[in-house]
Amino acid sequence: MANSRFEYVRQFETHDKLLSDCYIVIRIDGKKFHEFSKYYEFRKPNDERALKLMNASAKNVVLKYKNDIILAFGESDEYSFILKRDSTLFNRRKDKLATLIGSLFTTNYVFLWDKFFPDTPLNVKHLPYFDSRCVLYPNLSIVKDYLSWRYVDTHINNLYNTVFWQLIQVCGMTPQEAEKKLCGTLSSDKQEILFKDCGINYNNEPEMFKKGSLITRKGEILHIDVIKKIDELFEGF
Ligand code: ATP
Ligand code: ATP
Ligand code: MG
Ligand code: MG
Repeated sequence: MANSRFEYVRQFETHDKLLSDCYIVIRIDGKKFHEFSKYYEFRKPNDERALKLMNASAKNVVLKYKNDIILAFGESDEYSFILKRDSTLFNRRKDKLATLIGSLFTTNYVFLWDKFFPDTPLNVKHLPYFDSRCVLYPNLSIVKDYLSWRYVDTHINNLYNTVFWQLIQVCGMTPQEAEKKLCGTLSSDKQEILFKDCGINYNNEPEMFKKGSLITRKGEILHIDVIKKIDELFEGF
């Protein structure tokens, strides 16, 4: 073990251990994916290849740490990994958890890119990278609300984006016109605009777009009504 007079600088490092007996959620989110998705010409509003790439990357993270992870949930450019309350992964060190899960996700995303985008090589000037944070939740009831929050967010964003892009792509509106038309509308109004103006029944949209993706500890990827199944999903935890 090297020992030098410089060793004392280690004392400046802070301890970052997360409180015991709390659920840890690690959420990663793509950096500037609005631009990234434009550069690689993702289909709007939902590029299925990109979502499947997110899912495959997250699945590898779940399988690697399946003893610590309860489940993972993803939509758009984000994924949440929910850890068990008594997990001792990386000694519960916040920096280690956030950075290692974030970089493991990113390396998987890059490694798997060609499989989902075989005709679109990654450009070194436009590489994907993800931020990552840890949040502690003190009980299961709040963890369930956390997951429900991300699920509802998926629905709200997807409904908005679906109508928004239909108004542009099918009805020929400019983004400004589409935004104005949707301003102040309720969920039911949006579904009606989609049906009457664009001939689309929102219920028939792909489940992955409407419901996001949930990955179980076994590595199954599901697109389910999270709120309906919320108690079942956390049974035993
Ligand atoms: P930040 O760096 O702050 O996260 P961001 O540009 O990544 O900025 P987000 O709020 O994370 O902003 O939104 C991600 C954006 O990435 C979406 O708004 C959408 O434009 C794009 N995006 C992500 N996934 C897909 C997908 N599967 N298909 C099409 N577009 C996508
Ligand atoms: P931790 O996950 O705690 O960081 P670690 O195994 O990465 O554990 P480090 O203290 O970071 O431990 O040390 C990195 C180790 O990786 C070195 O001890 C050495 O064995 C190996 N290593 C790193 N870079 C090289 C290299 N260029 N050539 C040969 N071995 C290397
Ligand atoms: Mg982002
Ligand atoms: Mg995002």
